[in-house]
Amino acid sequence: MKRISIIVLLAFTIIVGCKKKEDVKPITVSSEYVKEIVTYLASDALEGRNTGSQGIEEAANYIENKFKDYGVKPYFDTYRDDFKIDSLDAFNVVGFLEGTDPKLKDEVVIIGAHYDHIGRRAKPVEGDSIGNGANDNASGTSVVIAMAKNFAARKNNKRSVMFALFSGEEMGLRGSRHLAERLKNENLNLYTMVNFEMLGVPFPDRDYQVFATGYDLSNMAEVLNKYAGNKLVGKSDEAAKFNLFKRSDNYAFYQQFKMPAQTISSCDLTNFDFYHHVDDEADIMDYNHMASAINNLFPAMEGMINAPTQEIKMNDE
Ligand SMILES: [Zn+2]
Repeated sequence: MKRISIIVLLAFTIIVGCKKKEDVKPITVSSEYVKEIVTYLASDALEGRNTGSQGIEEAANYIENKFKDYGVKPYFDTYRDDFKIDSLDAFNVVGFLEGTDPKLKDEVVIIGAHYDHIGRRAKPVEGDSIGNGANDNASGTSVVIAMAKNFAARKNNKRSVMFALFSGEEMGLRGSRHLAERLKNENLNLYTMVNFEMLGVPFPDRDYQVFATGYDLSNMAEVLNKYAGNKLVGKSDEAAKFNLFKRSDNYAFYQQFKMPAQTISSCDLTNFDFYHHVDDEADIMDYNHMASAINNLFPAMEGMINAPTQEIKMNDE
């Protein structure tokens, strides 16, 4: 009897020990999880998520419900950060997870993506007039939602993390401009901003999985790669040529705060034929690539967010 109870105790200790170890492993997302989000946001029912439309209202509700489910709080009084584009009512969706470290929680890292798209096209292609925006940017939105899920579940982000989904991007980066100005006026203590755009398709020909726009402006890629443990983030010459750094929602944060604020993407238009096209559809996205990119990015972001000092710095100009 005694021997049996020792064996039972031993087995119990081993099981509990293993379980504890499992808890600190990064939570991974599946391709099915990512596919479900992108398929909903890029469905015809949402009519291309044009700013001011019923479709984008539904997209915002969907994101808010995800945040609620995960325990991500609204940053403002509600999840919505309202602004106007002429007479149009527009809103970013902004969630927040307070940091766990008594000092570092005063510093904020923003993880962002635009969730709007271009709505209906004037000229239908084979009867289809909806710009679904699966790659642009249901994909980036799904990355932010997945990050929110992971950080909320692990409850170990030492710095505070803001999850910002921008509207009005396709009308001239309006949502990010509005939020960056508002946060600057409120004296937000921003460390860095990482924006996600077009991660629905992989590169067939690169030695990195994703690239950072404005690669040479800071050491962001180097820092993220240190925590990823490999060359996850690289430099796209194509992105540099088209100055994509200034063409997405990171830019307003760089302008307002003069801090590193860059966009991470796996599409520089050399590897996608349907930019702003009715065929930018959920069923042509590569969900294994997307889940893999998110699962590689997660420890990189977590390492950066939990580092004792602010490692990402602007390079000297
Ligand atoms: Zn975009």
